[in-house]
Amino acid sequence: MTLTSTAPTACLVSTGEEVLRGEILDGNNHYLASTLGEHGFDVQLMMTAGDRREDLHFVMDSALQRADFLFISGGLGPTEDDLTTTVAAELAGKALIFDEASWTAIVALFRKYNMEAGDNNKKQAMLPEGADILANGNGTAPGFSLTFERHGSQKAIVALPGPPRELHPMLGNWLQDRNYSAVPPEEHLFLRFIGIGESPLAEALEPWTKEWGEVSFRQDFPEMEVKLYQPSMEKRLSLCTFAMDNLAAHLTTFSRQTIPELFADFMRGNGKTLAVAESFTGGEAAKVITDSPGSSEYFLGGVVSYSNAVKTNFLDVSASDLELDGPFNTATAEQMALGALTRFNADLALSFTGIAGPDGGTKDKPVGTAWITKASSSGHQSKQLYLILERDRIRTGAVYQGLKFLMEDWLSERCRQIAI
Ligand code: ATP
Repeated sequence: MTLTSTAPTACLVSTGEEVLRGEILDGNNHYLASTLGEHGFDVQLMMTAGDRREDLHFVMDSALQRADFLFISGGLGPTEDDLTTTVAAELAGKALIFDEASWTAIVALFRKYNMEAGDNNKKQAMLPEGADILANGNGTAPGFSLTFERHGSQKAIVALPGPPRELHPMLGNWLQDRNYSAVPPEEHLFLRFIGIGESPLAEALEPWTKEWGEVSFRQDFPEMEVKLYQPSMEKRLSLCTFAMDNLAAHLTTFSRQTIPELFADFMRGNGKTLAVAESFTGGEAAKVITDSPGSSEYFLGGVVSYSNAVKTNFLDVSASDLELDGPFNTATAEQMALGALTRFNADLALSFTGIAGPDGGTKDKPVGTAWITKASSSGHQSKQLYLILERDRIRTGAVYQGLKFLMEDWLSERCRQIAI
């Protein structure tokens, strides 16, 4: 991932035996990474330490060697194993001093629930000298932000409580008070692709990344998302052009829109009606299309023609063709689409036939082979797909690729207009 050179660097540390042992999912580092990323930080490492003091010291010191900021969550409680504050003060070379205002806030919180703060809670008011105290509106432990010199430059430790309902607002206030505003999503460039995995996509983008630097990848099955952080206009245009020239068969959009979202826009904009004829997708195409609110404006319906008899009786697929060649071929997909077009009196039709597995594949037509056809009154066009992995993924992959197939001219024109 490449960021502008001025981005502050950050390392994240979560603490606690329950996180280390996998008993709870590390939501804090995940939240910190995405929130800080949105606010322009370059997050470089995430680490987790249990309750051993030497481990905590090791990860915190490593984080400070690597980055300007260490954001650490947890370990601010009143018990012996809550060591974040002690180790932070040690690394910063600061003494721990009793903070009267924090103690007053802790006592007040206990009183609110008709309880008395214990002596051990006093530990939570012992904070590193010179730290900015971060008030905790939802719990006893105050957080703190501590700036000091270490490893030859200025460093900061931002210590936040473990419970997410305490951490989230405290981080929000910290960012706001220091004028870190969220980078608007439109300042990043997103590109989405289908029908190509992460490795081949990275390989295809290599001539561009060699010249311009890294991009980040996110799999959003069955699509792939590529993100470029705050690119200059020149860099943005260069990647868009490269993708259109070299990855046109897979490129769907220069935005975060998924294929079903794009499809809804496409159908709403063209004023046409649509019907589907499905075999091995078992109704999933109709489901994905009708997941979009307002799809009744354009979607007429579909036939799940799982058996050959239904293909013949409801979609007019030739019984003799089916008997001769079976249902796994372009001819069947074509006849299914044309049948749906006529039977539904639709402007557009889309059909799916194929082998979802795990059985039924042959040497010539392995599991994952699929045939799709798009049809309209002005003609029809078919495509053979080779999908991989298990049954669910094969079917969903086929549906998404089918939707893309139907709107591909519209998609490439849209990409061209956004790029220029
Ligand atoms: P407390 O004052 O409640 O003890 P603390 O700052 O010491 O707060 P921890 O004791 O480390 O925090 O964690 C308290 C609770 O916060 C955990 O039991 C867990 O529910 C939640 N928590 C801690 N760390 C994480 C994490 N990384 N991801 C999600 N939840 C977490």
